[in-house]
Amino acid sequence: MTHIHEGLPLSRTTEVGSIRIHGIEAGVQQLDGGAMFGVVPKPLWERRIPADVRNRIPLAMRCLLVEAPNALVLIDTGVGNKYDEKFGDIYGISNSGDPTRLEDGIRDAGFDPSDIDIVINTHLHFDHAGGNTVRGEDGTVRPSFPNARYVVQEGELRFAASRNERIQASYITENYESVTQAGLWDLVQGDAEVTQGIRVVPTPGHTPFHQSILIQSGSAVACYLADVCPTSAHIPLPWIMGYDLEPLVTLESKRGLWSRAREEDWLLVFEHDPRVPWGHLTADPDRPQLREE
Ligand SMILES: [Zn+2]
Repeated sequence: MTHIHEGLPLSRTTEVGSIRIHGIEAGVQQLDGGAMFGVVPKPLWERRIPADVRNRIPLAMRCLLVEAPNALVLIDTGVGNKYDEKFGDIYGISNSGDPTRLEDGIRDAGFDPSDIDIVINTHLHFDHAGGNTVRGEDGTVRPSFPNARYVVQEGELRFAASRNERIQASYITENYESVTQAGLWDLVQGDAEVTQGIRVVPTPGHTPFHQSILIQSGSAVACYLADVCPTSAHIPLPWIMGYDLEPLVTLESKRGLWSRAREEDWLLVFEHDPRVPWGHLTADPDRPQLREE
């Protein structure tokens, strides 16, 4: 198997005001290009991200480690180590490490997984919350970050438990059950400050309780978008994933974000972009795109 994340560094660092943030490359998955771009025709999207013979495109699983003033915060946790060979093949997952590439990346950034105080999940899909828990050598599943509180929207945890045929492939109970059993959740409702410098904001559409994360220091702001805009190719308003449960809601979430991002010159962080970890929007409101830097 070729390792398509070869060439991607384990971690890279930048600053948001006085806060250091580290993009952690927790591995790669490969998803159907058509599903990733919804109604956008293939001749358009394949110019941005070319597909393989199975029509799949490579997608990063880029988590963010944030050195907030009062807490070390990890945003999203990749896919974890609990999947079997068949699952790994279907989703083209490549994230080997100790126990996964996420922990290797955290160490590469100068920290130990046990240092993490807060884990924030944008939502509970398996490629975002799979690394919340780990299967140990004895086969039992336990929280990966035992010294951390875990933060998600209360509605998302409830929605994940609701189970139906359209959503159940994305929600895997063992990714969050042991977090519940250990009493580690801090559930939030709507817009909320998690710790100094870090807020969560609802950006529904992909799932009804999807959230994005704002990192703020002085006048500098970064936004970890997650699946409201998974790659830089998804910046144009109608480029919305076929996976989204409520695409017109995604559209409005994105419209609202882009107007604030332009006004305050946010650094936008892309979780799934195979090449571009982050960037700023150009000033043109009619044609949102990334500025050349
Ligand atoms: Zn995703």
